Amino acid sequence: MQDLAIYGGKPAINASEIKNWPPIDKTDEELVLAALHEKSQARSTYTALLEKEFKAFSETAYAYFCNCGGAALHMCIAGCGIGAGDQVIVTSYTWPSSASCILHNMAVPVFVDIDPETFLMDPAKIEAAITPRTKAILVVHLHGLCCDMDPIWAIAKKHQLKIIEDACQAHNALYKGKKAGTLGDCAAFSFNQNKCMTSGEAGIFVTNDREIFDRGMTLTGFSDMQPTKAAPEFPAYAFAHKFANNEITAAYALAQLRKFPGYYQQLIDNAHALHEELLKAKLKGLKLPYEPANCTHNWYNYNLRIDFDAIGMGAKTNAEKSQFRNAVCKALQAEGVICGVWQRCILPEMTIFRAKNAYGHGYPWAVPGADDGVDYAPANFPNAVKYCYSHIAIVQILRAPNDTTMARKVAEAIKKVFTQLEKIDPAKIS
Ligand SMILES: *Cc1c(COP(=O)(O)O)cnc(C)c1O
Repeated sequence: MQDLAIYGGKPAINASEIKNWPPIDKTDEELVLAALHEKSQARSTYTALLEKEFKAFSETAYAYFCNCGGAALHMCIAGCGIGAGDQVIVTSYTWPSSASCILHNMAVPVFVDIDPETFLMDPAKIEAAITPRTKAILVVHLHGLCCDMDPIWAIAKKHQLKIIEDACQAHNALYKGKKAGTLGDCAAFSFNQNKCMTSGEAGIFVTNDREIFDRGMTLTGFSDMQPTKAAPEFPAYAFAHKFANNEITAAYALAQLRKFPGYYQQLIDNAHALHEELLKAKLKGLKLPYEPANCTHNWYNYNLRIDFDAIGMGAKTNAEKSQFRNAVCKALQAEGVICGVWQRCILPEMTIFRAKNAYGHGYPWAVPGADDGVDYAPANFPNAVKYCYSHIAIVQILRAPNDTTMARKVAEAIKKVFTQLEKIDPAKIS
């Protein structure tokens, strides 16, 4: 067995072999340069083209290209008419933007635990979280895997709730053949650097519902929108944020959108190649990601999990398990694998939620009645807590233009580390 790189051995992967994400070529250069030479770099030709082509891609009727996925999520919340004192149900294991968008419109997030097999909101936990104030379920198709929508659709219908999709990581992720972004009333996608479709930074708000679109759009101006006869009351009409993006970014996003099918297929091929190798290796202490039969994962993140029971560490504290996981992650990084801990704690444990204070003076929780039935105690989210201390996320190294040769090298590096787990000593790895 070769010495682990973290203890001075030769790394399994040479850093210079790894190619950068996203691939840049003539398509990007020509479109960006053309946008730069247009008369205006504020919303015009290339933004319109991008929105048109993204609508076709996402199979939605309305789209607005904004400055980030978080802004698009905020437009979803406002678009659904959610405002002060309302509650929105959301998963406890996600990116903070999935819940801060709710706060931005003065509403209160109500968290639910995840399914231990995937890492997605557990539909069986949703009904217990519903109160008379609940207006929507915000589903997060995390790591590019769609939520289990059949039971969520049934609950939303029964309780007359809107469904908002955080599809920021879910470009072309499928549920029963249907695309993320068409599984609810409206959706947000991100074009941040780390996403499967990127323009450095940007986001897009999409929906098939004209009314939701118009209400969401009220956030994009200068707080000068007037209520109209058609929509007499916009909950946020006097409170805009200027979410517009620009032509150069739109042109870059357009280039990446046009090249997306190839990148998407490469990522799936790479994830499958890695998965196959790891399945064959049957490594003790390694739990592989699970793709339900009715879903097509886009493999935004390929997540490993450490099975602490299998390696006799079941009785250790969460903090000790977390330290061990961090050391394993560092050992993989030393082998040349680009990986990391994607989220160290559940959202309810983050400062803003523990303090229940976003706008000052305890708002929005201080809105009378808004906090009813809301309990952020971590003990309510055991599966999410476990996921946080046991996972390692593999991201960029599986993206195009890296191919299955690289994916197999990643598998070799993982095998090298997981066959020597007994040598991983957190005290020696800082
Ligand atoms: C990245 C991300 C966002 C926010 O997207 P930005 O473009 O960075 O604002 C929201 N939700 C999830 C799940 C994300 O991964």
